[in-house]
Amino acid sequence: MQSDTEQTAITTHLMDVTARPPVTMVAGQGSWLTDQAGKRYLDFVQGWAVNCLGHSPALVAEVLARQSTTLLNCSPAFFNAPMLELAQLLTTHSGLHQVWFGSSGAEVNEGAIKLARRWGEKHRSGAFEIITLHNSFHGRTLATMAASGKPQWQPLFEPKVPGFVKVPINDIEAVAAAISERTVAVMLEPVQGEGGVIPATHEFLQQLRALTRQCGVLLILDEVQTGIGRTGTLFAFEQAGIEPDILTLGKGLGGGAPLSALLAHRDFCCFEHGDQGGTFSGNALLTAVGCAVVKQIAQPAFLTAVRVQGDYLRDRLQQVSDEFGLGEVRGHGLLVALEIPSGNATQIADAAFTSGLLVNAPRVNVLRFMPALNVSREEIDRAIEYLAQALRACRRVMAT
Ligand SMILES: *Cc1c(COP(=O)(O)O)cnc(C)c1O
Repeated sequence: MQSDTEQTAITTHLMDVTARPPVTMVAGQGSWLTDQAGKRYLDFVQGWAVNCLGHSPALVAEVLARQSTTLLNCSPAFFNAPMLELAQLLTTHSGLHQVWFGSSGAEVNEGAIKLARRWGEKHRSGAFEIITLHNSFHGRTLATMAASGKPQWQPLFEPKVPGFVKVPINDIEAVAAAISERTVAVMLEPVQGEGGVIPATHEFLQQLRALTRQCGVLLILDEVQTGIGRTGTLFAFEQAGIEPDILTLGKGLGGGAPLSALLAHRDFCCFEHGDQGGTFSGNALLTAVGCAVVKQIAQPAFLTAVRVQGDYLRDRLQQVSDEFGLGEVRGHGLLVALEIPSGNATQIADAAFTSGLLVNAPRVNVLRFMPALNVSREEIDRAIEYLAQALRACRRVMAT
């Protein structure tokens, strides 16, 4: 085992792009993560909503083992069997018609932006502008940062990729006013995840669907965080009873392995050869994992359990909120937030880490809970216990 100074010496070789606690994670199993000192953490972040079946699920391990001795990668210039199977699964479940595979959420959102611009060039007199929402998050490439509505990103990496117009969430009038002959699409998350678990209302999504049809512009849903069962249905858009023209998936799709997908209705699949690609696109290893994950999560009984556990988590958090005088509990399925009106969510998340619970604070007044989709009631109870411990610890600090 390394001493603290040895560990510090080693970490200096990594670009310092985020604050990390001084521990090294060495193993994960189900809802639990273990560090190099043997301390166990109940993980309600799960790699940022990525490990939908928990850490090291047998299902993913088996597919990785089998596929890695059969075919890893034959280049995107050939069809492979898992790639075709996953495309069929995703189109069948989503009602969309064609897929392009990537490795990260930002990559497929970038693809969605390109597809919309290509369609605008061909079918809407060169329209290219995309309307996105304040506080939205679409990724960290240049175009997806420009598409995102994070206020802190406003001054960064000039000059920005142009062509994004921002409006407030749940304000259909603002969207209508922003649409012009330059507009090609409206792009949004059904629930803003990084923005603090802020849901677009079903009414807003339905109005957007009607408005975009009426104006002849595309509706792009970024379900990188909300898709693959996270909100209690396979896709969040099902709950609003709408269908997007373009859809992006990532995070949970690979069950912890890097895999993402761009889907579109056949009317808008207008890429030509050379427009879109990527060395790892549709590789057999990860699309095989995607097939296993999607088959598991799409089972009605699995999704019912996500909704039941989500309701239970929200009930328990509501009790905590009442007991400690905190704010609103919101979210769908197992994408849940607890509002911290005093604005010390980061401090509470740090105290929870010490207690042995991993939660994250996407904003200073929000704690976000994204456990494995197969989390148990006992694990939720334990998380609530650790959270209460952390809140008491913070209260003691504030009192002194
Ligand atoms: C995480 C996330 C992304 C970016 O995904 P990466 O895999 O980090 O590139 C994009 N959109 C939403 C809604 C996300 O939650």
